[in-house]
Amino acid sequence: MKKAAFFAIAFFIGLMASCIHNGQNKPEEKKVTDTIIQEAPTEPVDTIPDIPAINAILDSSVIFTAEDTLWHEDYLFASYPIPDTVKARMDGLSMKENPYISYDQLRYLTVFHYDFDSLVQKGELVCNQSIAHDLLCVFRDLFAAQYPICSIRLVDDFDADDETSMQANNTSCFNYRTVPGSSGLSQHALGRAIDVNPLQNPYIKGSHVYPATATEYIDRTKDFPHKIDKDDLCYKVFASYGFTWGGYWRDRDYQHFVKRR
Ligand SMILES: [Zn+2]
Repeated sequence: MKKAAFFAIAFFIGLMASCIHNGQNKPEEKKVTDTIIQEAPTEPVDTIPDIPAINAILDSSVIFTAEDTLWHEDYLFASYPIPDTVKARMDGLSMKENPYISYDQLRYLTVFHYDFDSLVQKGELVCNQSIAHDLLCVFRDLFAAQYPICSIRLVDDFDADDETSMQANNTSCFNYRTVPGSSGLSQHALGRAIDVNPLQNPYIKGSHVYPATATEYIDRTKDFPHKIDKDDLCYKVFASYGFTWGGYWRDRDYQHFVKRR
């Protein structure tokens, strides 16, 4: 009996120890929104303008999980399945009913960039899942080099109107639309193309220039700030991740980088 009692007590103590041990080591479930709020850069307030769309997502009770993250020092570059809050912004604008692309095939990216005043800004993009990691790498590298990008916001903030977004010199990727001046579906409609600093780097098709306000930047023999050419870091970084540049095309598209696969 004594022996049985000893084993019973030993078993009980062992069980208690095991519970305590497990309790101490149980990994806390960490939500990405918490991670961003606690560990992402605490940027100097006076240099970061409020971007309501991003802040609304971070403040909302909608929890979504980053599936890919990259850091540059304190700055987090992350990609997510499209959150419902972002879908609500895109529905009927950049995302239209179509047989070619669905939200499942797209990703929402949050990045940082330096603007034309050398201030750090938050940016957001929607792109095809197949290029999400490459784009995170591209923007991480451009940020590390302090490459100036005027603005990176969803085209939905411009009613998904490409011309309006370009005139605002906004860098953007996904937009279910045709090629300007054509009925053909753009690679932007599949989220595989991105336009960078479009005002200084217009798309020129015959006598048309997109955006229409970019006529002073048509002459590429001139030297001016934010011009993308084959010696520019933007071109080099995109090319290093396998993107093709529209500046080489017959209809020059200096703002345009695309990766089909
Ligand atoms: Zn483009």
